[in-house]
Amino acid sequence: MTNQLFDLAGRVAIVTGGNGGIGLGMARGLAAAGAAIAIVGRNEAKSNAAVAELTQAGCRAIAISADVTDKVDVAAMIAQVFKAFGRLDILVNNAGINIRKPPHELPLDDWDSVIKTNLTSAFLCSQAAHPVMKAASGGKVINIGSMMSIFGAGYSPAYAASKGGIVQFTRSCAVAWAPDNIQVNAILPGWIDTELTQNARREVDGLHDKVLARTPAARWGVGDDFAGIAVFLGSRASDFVTGTAIPVDGGYSVQG
Ligand code: NDP
Repeated sequence: MTNQLFDLAGRVAIVTGGNGGIGLGMARGLAAAGAAIAIVGRNEAKSNAAVAELTQAGCRAIAISADVTDKVDVAAMIAQVFKAFGRLDILVNNAGINIRKPPHELPLDDWDSVIKTNLTSAFLCSQAAHPVMKAASGGKVINIGSMMSIFGAGYSPAYAASKGGIVQFTRSCAVAWAPDNIQVNAILPGWIDTELTQNARREVDGLHDKVLARTPAARWGVGDDFAGIAVFLGSRASDFVTGTAIPVDGGYSVQG
């Protein structure tokens, strides 16, 4: 029973930004549960390395070079997945960036770039995946929010706006696509040790220790902490779970 609930054999997943960090952690989990994986990113060397790792572990995986802010690239991405695997069951909208400047110093171009990469990309990829999932009578969309979906940060106004938006976008798609048996959920990562936060630690004074002090689990997360939640939200185990935003944060968001 347990194995069947979480079994992803024969399923196909796209993980945007799957070539490192949290995305690769989720891709590893989905692959270990049996799914074929399309790793999507702009850095081909990193994507090829991720695919080599998954393939070596016995998974079917391909790398797709795409900019998820570009509608033409996104359409080509879905077509490539369909050509390679003949179906699409799980879409993980994980690609993201941050540009750290206070609101009074943030140029419009930086605002646009963060919103497009973190929020508009989820819209474009979900909209492109919807007809394919609907035709197959179901699917799973997993969006990646942040602690900034809940809290603000003076140095990350565009990032927080994009991640707050992800939660409301998730809820809207969950309602719209429930009749199509497509479950749409968000994961809200706490502070995770990745390239993104290695930059943050350089740019924000004392961040490393502040995170440790505030996180009940008393450690930074790692990409592989997202394997389990990805399998849960990508599998039939979550068929009655939709529109949620689940923190995976070592308790960061519940510490008073
Ligand atoms: P990484 O920088 O390791 O990963 C970001 C990924 O996004 C890379 O694989 C990158 O690939 C991809 N990406 C960025 N822009 C584009 C684009 N335009 N088109 C396609 N791919 C793109 O960071 P994380 O693993 O930390 O971040 C993953 C997600 O988790 C992000 O949404 C982030 O906001 C979120 N998150 C992270 C937290 C953390 O503490 N690390 C906390 C909360 C949320 P490439 O460069 O090849 O394009």
